[in-house]
Amino acid sequence: MYRNVVLEHPEVVTQLHREFIRSGSDVVEAFTYYGHREKLKLIGKEHLLESLQTNALKIAKAAADEFPELNLMVAGNVANTNIYDPADKQSHIYCQKMFEEQIGWAKDAGVDFVIAETINWTGEAQIALKAIKDAGMIAVVNLAIPAGPFGDKTRDGQSASEACKILEDHGADVVGLNCYRGPTMMKKLLPEIRKSVSCHVAALPVPFRTNEQYPTFMYIKDEGCDCIDGNVSHIALDGLTCTRFEMGNFAKDCAEMNVNFIGICCGADPHHVREMAVSLGRKPIAYKYYPDMNKHFAYGNDKQLKEINDSKYLKP
Ligand SMILES: [Zn+2]
Repeated sequence: MYRNVVLEHPEVVTQLHREFIRSGSDVVEAFTYYGHREKLKLIGKEHLLESLQTNALKIAKAAADEFPELNLMVAGNVANTNIYDPADKQSHIYCQKMFEEQIGWAKDAGVDFVIAETINWTGEAQIALKAIKDAGMIAVVNLAIPAGPFGDKTRDGQSASEACKILEDHGADVVGLNCYRGPTMMKKLLPEIRKSVSCHVAALPVPFRTNEQYPTFMYIKDEGCDCIDGNVSHIALDGLTCTRFEMGNFAKDCAEMNVNFIGICCGADPHHVREMAVSLGRKPIAYKYYPDMNKHFAYGNDKQLKEINDSKYLKP
């Protein structure tokens, strides 16, 4: 239902773009993720597909245009269709058509590049990549690596680095990972990817504390939440959210690994992005509001603060 906000409350989407831009985003990605024909058919809104896509693209472009001094890039996207089946050739044709129409709208809107993302089949990613390149666009292709019975592999059985190499060999300009994994579980896959390709590498984890037991946020449990038996799915992950500093450290680690397209996926908040930008040595517009904890009544050391509130009186 959230996609309808593009038509019903476009001003809210614009404001969200502005917040991420002010926090340091270099890329304004249109709010088109998962708004494809198959998903919209599933929710009975296929008739809204084109207007949702084109309006989201228009909103992203207009938001970027508000900050000409930042030289922002605008991206369109295609994503997991959920109908791809390696054994069903017809599904490949249907995927290709879905990708082509979305890429067409993105190209007409004048985006700088197209991101194919959250795809867990190398085969499906290749179809998306081909559609982007056939349209003459720059292609960023990001895989979501599940943690199913076959381990850290794409659904068709390649390691993340093998799949990224295949995508680079087929013309991707940027390859990497997004979604599913939190920073720690994504980071462990990155050195191999960096070694296997020579193009730019992308890393956009979810800002949640996934771990060896639950490498992805898909079926993670929150032991601290007993009201729903810890089964947090996608809508109760709050208790597992990373701090801004965990995300800042992730950005720094990526830069050290020469991972050069750094971001966050589902669950990103502007304060995460700002900390990532700051940790990379940037001072985004919202740096103006960066917290100065030295003046906090309890945590700070500023001489103007009252000694009566010192931590020794407040700490348990
Ligand atoms: Zn995501």
